Amino acid sequence: MMNIKTSNNRIALALLAFLFLPFVVTAQDFDNIEITTIPVRGGIYVLQGSGGNIGVSIGDDGTLIIDDQFAQLSDKIMAAIAELTDKPVNFVVNSHFHYDHSDGNENFGRAGAYIVATDNARRRMESTQVLAGSGRVQEPYDDIGLPTMTFFDNMRFYFNGNAIDLVYTGNGHTDGDAQIYFREANVIHTGDMFVRYRMPFIDQANGGSMDGMIDAVMNLADLINDDTIIIPGHGELSNRDDLLDYRAMLVTVRGKLVRAKVQGLTPEEMLATEPADGYVPPNDNTNAWLLRAYEEYTGQ
Ligand SMILES: [Zn+2]
Repeated sequence: MMNIKTSNNRIALALLAFLFLPFVVTAQDFDNIEITTIPVRGGIYVLQGSGGNIGVSIGDDGTLIIDDQFAQLSDKIMAAIAELTDKPVNFVVNSHFHYDHSDGNENFGRAGAYIVATDNARRRMESTQVLAGSGRVQEPYDDIGLPTMTFFDNMRFYFNGNAIDLVYTGNGHTDGDAQIYFREANVIHTGDMFVRYRMPFIDQANGGSMDGMIDAVMNLADLINDDTIIIPGHGELSNRDDLLDYRAMLVTVRGKLVRAKVQGLTPEEMLATEPADGYVPPNDNTNAWLLRAYEEYTGQ
């Protein structure tokens, strides 16, 4: 019944493309992407293809998914869900507005799903956005792809035997990131506030903030416990220790950036101190990331 395929190199490469500057997936690549279904716990699954992890809750009440990746993959995603349940997708919750998580919205909207997101995420989807770093332009979605239910700080579903909390923890990856916590199953989808590649993408052009991300990750760590299974925005299933390691990395790098600021270092001098040493290689991507983060503290 379940369709489990192991990751292939192409998917690994596609994931690598997400390291810092999203993204380099061409139309041709989508033809070769396969959707992998991984059971999580208590009727919850994660689908991996290209783009953010898709959380799926199936059960008597119907189907709720978190994120829907790229529009070109919608048919494959719907087919993978149909392997799990014969019920339609009732709800799509967007963890945030970025296209690698939400570009399937129009297809799922047309198929009859209600789309749910934070107020700020909907606002971003209503108009053209330019992403930090890559400068990639994300065009507005048609009405059918826009969230029809939004929330400011919290919202709760009672669905498939779970109280499902949609939690907004402030500016972090963007200014509209939701984390989705299935209380009975004790599974959380963090969106891109937590990812399993090294330094996370922070979209400063759309309300993202390093301080905010660190605060948000601490809030998440308080919300969950050692038995929680974490579905990160990208990458493999994780636990609370992984989340704390990730936070420690961010705090360490931030400390070095703040020290550089106090010492009055120019951006070039800051880079020479290699603040991310030990976490990521000192290459152009790392430097671009560090320069954007440094600017948050120095305004330079
Ligand atoms: Zn994102």
